[in-house]
Amino acid sequence: MFKKLDILDEKDKRLRMTSKDATLPLSKEYKKIIQQIIDELTYSQIEEYATKYDLRPGMGLAFPQLGILDRIIVIVHEYEEGKFDNYVVVNPKIVSYSEEMIAAEVGEGCLSVNRDVEGHVPRYARVTIEGYDEDGNKIKIRAREELSIAFQHEVDHLNGILFYDRINKDKPFFNEGEIRLI
Ligand code: ZN
Repeated sequence: MFKKLDILDEKDKRLRMTSKDATLPLSKEYKKIIQQIIDELTYSQIEEYATKYDLRPGMGLAFPQLGILDRIIVIVHEYEEGKFDNYVVVNPKIVSYSEEMIAAEVGEGCLSVNRDVEGHVPRYARVTIEGYDEDGNKIKIRAREELSIAFQHEVDHLNGILFYDRINKDKPFFNEGEIRLI
């Protein structure tokens, strides 16, 4: 039986707090929550299940979005039609990033933001993330394009930042040549 996660809405103050490092290895309870997140993010990106369970499509979730202020992020990336890669990073750090900036042309969305927010969110085109897996082994991930945006979006959640904080209010859209739109 699939039970939907209780995701906090943007008005909840916990989304504005800085999360603390998680203790490793993760508890059985945390691992269970991670599996629930993976299931829900995967289902949300498969139309049949998204409709069946009334899920908004999303590729990432951070623990603070569940009201748990631990530095854990989960990303389910559809790298090819119907094929998904799961990324679970505990205590992630962006250790290097490209000079080149990109933005999602259609803007970003967030499972905690239940409305459309228009505007381009500037992000690094490529990032390298270091952190730990659920058992405490060190991991390093290189991400580019859409996946790079996802990692930056989720790491922001650990620092109480929502994507629209990064949209320039006076000039929310970039022009051609100012940034690469993907
Ligand atoms: Zn989000």
